[in-house]
Amino acid sequence: METLAVSLGEKSYNIYIKEGILADLAAYSGVADKWFILTDENLDRLYGTALAAALEGLPYAKFVLPPGETSKSFHMVETIIDAMLAAGLTRHSAIIAFGGGVVGDLAGFCASIYMRGIRYLQIPTTLLAQVDSSVGGKTGINVSQGKNMAGTFYQPQVVLIDTGLLATLPQREFTAGLGEVIKYGLIYDYQLLQSIKNNFVRFYNLDFAALNSLIRQCCQIKASIVGQDETERDLRKILNFGHTIGHAIETLTHYQRYLHGEAVLIGMHYESLLAKKMNLISEAYSQEIADLIGRTNISADLTDFSLTSLVEQMRTDKKNQDGILSFILPTGLGRVTEYTLTPQQTLALLSR
Ligand code: ADP
Ligand code: ZN
Repeated sequence: METLAVSLGEKSYNIYIKEGILADLAAYSGVADKWFILTDENLDRLYGTALAAALEGLPYAKFVLPPGETSKSFHMVETIIDAMLAAGLTRHSAIIAFGGGVVGDLAGFCASIYMRGIRYLQIPTTLLAQVDSSVGGKTGINVSQGKNMAGTFYQPQVVLIDTGLLATLPQREFTAGLGEVIKYGLIYDYQLLQSIKNNFVRFYNLDFAALNSLIRQCCQIKASIVGQDETERDLRKILNFGHTIGHAIETLTHYQRYLHGEAVLIGMHYESLLAKKMNLISEAYSQEIADLIGRTNISADLTDFSLTSLVEQMRTDKKNQDGILSFILPTGLGRVTEYTLTPQQTLALLSR
């Protein structure tokens, strides 16, 4: 088993990574008077029985959400809180989040506000959630004005990563998760990038030794980044590599065409091209990045909109203040730095 201690003072917790660890859930569930499972319909269909078996003999209730982003709403929070009260959850109860990012964000948010905060355990079931949202303690819901515009920082009591659950994950979702995995290599660890290249096929074939180690390394990188900087700013910004362009692509295609991780893959591709055109990285490294992203079979051709509208979209993003665009760009092997560009400069570089 791979384990990782996320050290955040009093809020420290452990991440355990092993295929099949779900069956041992009772051993990690801590002490509570009742547990409340939050999951979605797809996962309940696939793993409802296994979850019930893992919690056999313990008092618990379950709430099953419709899958997808639309469940991350204030309305749903209210429904869940009502269900928690109806199930008799107290301040000594705990939530078990069993699902991808949607379930995790919602469960964390509900845990942080229910009776001013109760404990929650995370069992992330997508590769994306396993390497990304299981570290950092960000919870959130969507409002009409935008995604994740309401939320809290709230750390889980423990994270159990069962890589065996990836066997049923649709391949597109797996590739999207790899987008964030490749990101860690590019922003922080060139050796990890080499290991991703060398084990690429093993990951897709669910070689658990390779996957468990990969996920531990990704969580470790994220933990060391957010550990130095728990509430956003500076260092944490490097996690946004690929996201300035990625978010604009998601918005322009109304979150319909690409999964988040796919948009990040395309975003990293173009942001690396920007870096090459600014002579921040060598031709060879730029090619290495393009080749690795290409191996995911993601197409970087943007046919739904023009480069002009892409740049215009970034300009109106709230994260880019005063019409100046902020990018995290590769500056060396496994290294990135923040740069700001005007929309005009960005368009000129991208079109060159
Ligand atoms: P993300 O972590 O990418 O935000 P979501 O919570 O939106 O993921 O889940 C993406 C989709 O994949 C949902 O439809 C969810 O039900 C499904 N899903 C999540 N984990 C698994 C799994 N292990 N096997 C099969 N389907 C899964
Ligand atoms: Zn992301």
